[in-house]
Amino acid sequence: MKILVSDDVSEKGVELLRQHGYEVDVKTNLDEQGLIDCIGEYDGMVTRSMTHVTAKVIAAGKKLKVIGRAGVGVDSIDIKAATARGIIVVNAPTANTIAATEHTCAMIMAITRHIPQAHNSLMAGEWDRERFTGIQLQNKTIGIIGVGRIGSRIAKRMQAMEMHTIGYDPYIPDERFEQLGVEPVDLDTLLKRSDYITMHTPLTKETRGMIGAEEIAKMKDGVRVINVSRGAVLDINALADAIKSGHVAGAAIDVFPTEPLTEDINPFKGLDNVVITPHLGASTVEAQIGVSVDVAEGVIAALNG
Ligand code: NAD
Repeated sequence: MKILVSDDVSEKGVELLRQHGYEVDVKTNLDEQGLIDCIGEYDGMVTRSMTHVTAKVIAAGKKLKVIGRAGVGVDSIDIKAATARGIIVVNAPTANTIAATEHTCAMIMAITRHIPQAHNSLMAGEWDRERFTGIQLQNKTIGIIGVGRIGSRIAKRMQAMEMHTIGYDPYIPDERFEQLGVEPVDLDTLLKRSDYITMHTPLTKETRGMIGAEEIAKMKDGVRVINVSRGAVLDINALADAIKSGHVAGAAIDVFPTEPLTEDINPFKGLDNVVITPHLGASTVEAQIGVSVDVAEGVIAALNG
C-alpha cells in the first residue's frame, strides 16, 4: 500500500511507515490540483498544517482509506467529505501540547517586556531604555478562552507568575475549573475583566470569528491579546484597528486566517507593540518527532483495520 506525505514531517514517522511495509512518497508544496492529480494512487496520506484536504481532493482519492494530520487541528481536512466516503481521519492531539503552551508563554513574556523590539533597537545601535518599559504579570488577570490541553497548562504556568486566571469554556465541568484553580466566567465577563486574553479553542463553526470587533470593543483598555490557536478564531483586522486606536496595548499572534501571512495582507505592519510568528506553536524538535510518530501509528492502525 502507498502513502503520500504531503507536508514536512519528521523523518521518524516516515521511517515507521516504511518499517511497516508501506511505500511512502514525500511530495510537499502541492496545490489542490497537484494533490488531485496524484492522490488516486494512494491508500493513505499524512499532512501537517499546509495541506488543505478539500472535498475535491477526497473525491479524487479513489483508494484513500485514511488521512493523518500530524498535529491537533483537523480544520484543514474536510471531515464531512471524508466521513461520507468512509475515510478515517486520525490526528496527533497530544504531542505538541507542551510546545504550543511554551510558545504561548514566550509570546506573553515577549509582549510584556518588548523583547523583540528592544533586541532590534539595540542591534540597530540604539541604547533606548525609556521606550521599552514593560509591565508586571504579577496580580494581573489572564482570561483563557478554551481550557483544554493547552489552555489548562497556560493556567498552571501563569499561576506560577502569580497571575489571576479566569477561563471561558462551556464544555468543561465546574469541578475541572476548580481543580485547575481557574475561575469559570462567561465570555463577556472574561472580555471585560482580563488584562491578557489568550485563545485556545479548536476552530469550529462556533469559534470561527468568535473574537471580532464587537468582542474587542468589550475588552478593557490596555488589554493584551494572544492567539496561538487558529487564525480564523480572531479578526486580526479588527484587532489591528484596536491597537492603532490605543484601546489594545499589545498583541502576540502565531496563527492567521490566511497562511502564509504575506506582507500585503498583514494588518500589523508598522505596529510596534505586536509580536507575530509564522505558526511556530508546534515547532520544537520534540513535538515534531512526537506528532510524526503518533500520526504514523494512527495511520498504520487505521490501515490494519
Ligand atoms: P483541546 O481540544 O484540548 O482544548 C480545546 C478546548 O476548547 C476544549 O476544552 C473545548 O471544550 C474548548 N472549546 C471548544 N469550543 C469552545 C467555545 N466555543 N468556547 C470556548 N471554549 C471552547 O485542544 P488543544 O490541544 O488545547 O488545542 C487548542 C488549540 O490550539 C487548537 O485550535 C489547536 O489547533 C491549536 N494548536 C495550535 C498550535 C500552533 O502551532 N499554533 C499547536 C498546537 C495546537
